[in-house]
Amino acid sequence: MKRITELDFDNAYRRLPGDFYDVVHPTPLKNPRLVSFNPDAAALIDLDPEEANNPGLPLYLSGARAIPGSEPLAMYYTGHQFGVYNPDIGDGRAILLGEVRNSRGGKWDLHLKGAGRTAYARVFDGRAVLRSVIREYLSSEAMHGLGIPTTRALSIVGSDEKVERETTERGATLLRMAETHVRFGSFEGFHYTGRGDYVKLLADYVIDGFFPHLAGEEGRYASFLSGVVDRTAKLIALWQACGFTHGVMNTDNMSIIGLTLDYGPFGFLEEYSPEYIPNHSDHFGRYSFGNQPSIALWNLQKLAEALGSVVPREISQEIVFNFRGLYGKYYLEIMKQKLGLLSDDPRDPALIKGLLSILEETKTDYTNFMRGLGDFSAEDGARNEHPARMLGESSAFKEWAAAYRRRLVSEGSIDAERKEAMSSLNPKYILRNYLAERAIRKVEDEGDYAEIERLRILLKNPFSEQPGFGEYSKPTPPSERGLVISCSS
Ligand code: AMP
Ligand code: MG
Repeated sequence: MKRITELDFDNAYRRLPGDFYDVVHPTPLKNPRLVSFNPDAAALIDLDPEEANNPGLPLYLSGARAIPGSEPLAMYYTGHQFGVYNPDIGDGRAILLGEVRNSRGGKWDLHLKGAGRTAYARVFDGRAVLRSVIREYLSSEAMHGLGIPTTRALSIVGSDEKVERETTERGATLLRMAETHVRFGSFEGFHYTGRGDYVKLLADYVIDGFFPHLAGEEGRYASFLSGVVDRTAKLIALWQACGFTHGVMNTDNMSIIGLTLDYGPFGFLEEYSPEYIPNHSDHFGRYSFGNQPSIALWNLQKLAEALGSVVPREISQEIVFNFRGLYGKYYLEIMKQKLGLLSDDPRDPALIKGLLSILEETKTDYTNFMRGLGDFSAEDGARNEHPARMLGESSAFKEWAAAYRRRLVSEGSIDAERKEAMSSLNPKYILRNYLAERAIRKVEDEGDYAEIERLRILLKNPFSEQPGFGEYSKPTPPSERGLVISCSS
């Protein structure tokens, strides 16, 4: 286990040409202090969890003091935002401190968000407010707990730095980690400015790190695009199956290795609704829950366009065309597992669709219903009152339940075994907006960091019943509904 001053850096991104980034140093915040430190993320870079007690740690984690071996830079990228190309983005407030090697051969970007302006900051201040940092910290760890690929979060450092948003707030930094922060948008800027050689160089950087079996192969760029399509299809299937809505699926927020990246106005479904839009500035619902698979495809088309100099259009179109099939396959696989189905039946897609329309119609809490469905009995129909109760007297559900029961009986499903399998896939706890909001209020109003720690630990194991946390699995209380999250904070 290492101290913060002993990390083993290997800054490969920094060895790429200067046009790939802007060398920049973090701008310290006033009175930095440690709000939360995540030992699970620390373990990924062999960082000793005892370092949390090192009084100098908040300085290192917020960029006020340089971590030995780090070589900070802001990454260049562009992207399509709400369907429109913006040539002028780049990391305006996130600094790649460097890439840390661990003893198991893994490598992790240390990426510091909120540490001041970079060359790409445009008119913005380079800061992040505490509430948005808390949301990203908790949600990325919650997604990891759910088994969904995501960036991770090492620490939150709070401060007395004043940051102007709709009101004056306090600035904070998030130190996040990922195997890479390269995005679809990282390729777009080079493509649209005619720098095909850089597109190729960046593709080789990603291939070497994440698709090493393709390195040096002829036709590797097409295979790389296929790999990205596959990872994206899997990621979106996982989002849809757990009810996660990203909120801002611009191409610059799409990870090239299929991670959930750049948490802003995200939200988890409560009532099942394809129309759910967590971002209040998304007036037309471009990034609604139900649109996410189509938007992912649209974004992949933009990536294919950006790879135009290394993958001929006829080929890339065909590769991207596979997205729907792959997505459908992954989604069906996951949903079948969530329903506890073991065998294949051509009627399964209709069974799943049928259930979702009933949930939508009856405005039922998606997470809690799926969890409760584990109590469904194929052996004794009379025991099925519990899951049915959530839906009131829905006759459509009764019909659906009869079909589900027949399906279970047909494959000899055993209630207890199925319940166990389903409970390991249908979470008891998700990061409902109001839970995050309560943790934020505790910190902002009372300087109490304990709720963040409680949620981090709870959401690490979202599938296990955790005694004393019954309240945390309840849908949003009516008094806390209608919470609105702004886009850039
Ligand atoms: P986002 O909506 O967080 O994906 O941000 C879009 C782009 O704007 C990204 O390139 C960010 O780095 C940049 N950005 C967002 N907020 C700020 C800020 N406060 N200061 C500088 N750049 C920002
Ligand atoms: Mg972003």
